[in-house]
Amino acid sequence: MKLSISVVGTGRMGSALARALLQSGYRTTVWNRTKQKAEPLAALGATVATSVLEAVNAAEIIIVNVSDYQASAVLRDDAVASAIRGKLIVELTSGTPHGAREAAEWFAAHGASYLDGAIMATPDFIGTDAGTILISGPRQAFDANEEMFRALGGNVQHVGEEPGRANALDSALLALMWGALFGTLHAIAVCQAEEIDLGELGRQWTAIAPVIDGLVADLIKRTNAGRFASDDETLSSISPHYGAFQHLLELMEARKIDRSAVDSYDAIFQRAIAAGHLHDDFAALSQFLESPDKRSLRSGPREGSLLAG
Ligand code: NAP
Repeated sequence: MKLSISVVGTGRMGSALARALLQSGYRTTVWNRTKQKAEPLAALGATVATSVLEAVNAAEIIIVNVSDYQASAVLRDDAVASAIRGKLIVELTSGTPHGAREAAEWFAAHGASYLDGAIMATPDFIGTDAGTILISGPRQAFDANEEMFRALGGNVQHVGEEPGRANALDSALLALMWGALFGTLHAIAVCQAEEIDLGELGRQWTAIAPVIDGLVADLIKRTNAGRFASDDETLSSISPHYGAFQHLLELMEARKIDRSAVDSYDAIFQRAIAAGHLHDDFAALSQFLESPDKRSLRSGPREGSLLAG
C-alpha cells in the first residue's frame, strides 16, 4: 500500500507535483487557497481538502509548494501545528537558505521531520526522467521516501543534511542562468542597434555555445583548485577578456544601450587588475566578488591592529 501524500498549494508547480504523484499511484490529497485551482485534480483521483488541517490529517507526508515561505506559514497555524507531529514535511517552495534553516527549526520544535527542496525544472519536467529536484535535510528521511521522490523526477538528489543547502544551490544555479539570460538581452540589444537579424544571432550562438560551456566548466574547476595564476592549461587570461570587454562598453555607449549591468562587470575586472592580476587566469576574478562593505570590514580590524601595534 503506497503512502498518503498531501500537496499544499496547487498553482502551476503544485498541480504538476500532484499529477505526478497520482500517476504513480499515490493516494493524494490537495489543498489550495483558491479551491477552484485544485478541483481539476479531483478528476485525476485526488481528494480536494477544504482546509490545510484536513490536508495534513489526511497524509503521512505533506508536500508544500506555494509562492514563498511567507505563504508557507499556512502550516504554522496553531491548530495545524498540533496535527503535524510525527509527519514528514517536504517544503518545495523556493526560498533562501536562512528561510529553510528557520523552518527546519520550527518543524523540529513541533515534532515533525523536515526536508527542504529546490525544484530545478519547469512544471512540464515534473514526473519525467529529466526532472531535477535538490533536497536537503536528514538523509534517512530522504532515503526512506526515495520511491516517492522518484515519482516527482528522475533526477531528485539528496544534496546534504544541512537544511539550507538545496536553496543555496538553487540561488547559485539561478545566478548562472540569469547571467546567461541577461547576457542574451545585451546580445539582442547590440544586434538590434547594429541592425543584425536576430535569426543570425541565434545561429551564431548555437555555434559558440560549446565554447561557453567549456569556459564555465573550466572556471568552476580552476576556482575550486585555486589555480588563479596563468599556466599551460589557461584558456584565456584576464587581459584579452578585458580588451574585448572594452569594445562592448564602447559599442553600448555609442548606441545608448543601458550599461548599468556591464559596468558592474567592469568594476570586478578593475579591482582584479588593480591588484595585479591582469595576466592571471580569468578564474582569478572569483577572488574579487566581495561587496566593498565586506572588504572594508575585513581590512578595518587589520588597520586597527597595526595602529594599536
Ligand atoms: P503559481 O502558479 O503562481 O502558484 C502559487 C501558489 O501559491 C498558488 O497555489 C497560490 O494560491 C499559493 N499562494 C500564494 N500566496 C499564498 C498564501 N498567502 N497562502 C496560501 N497560498 C498561497 O506559482 P508556481 O509556478 O506554481 O510556483 C510555486 C513555487 O514553485 C514557487 O516557490 C516557485 O518559485 C517554485 N518553482 C516554480 C517553477 C516554475 O517553473 N513554475 C520552477 C521552479 C520552482 P492561489 O491559487 O490561491 O493564489
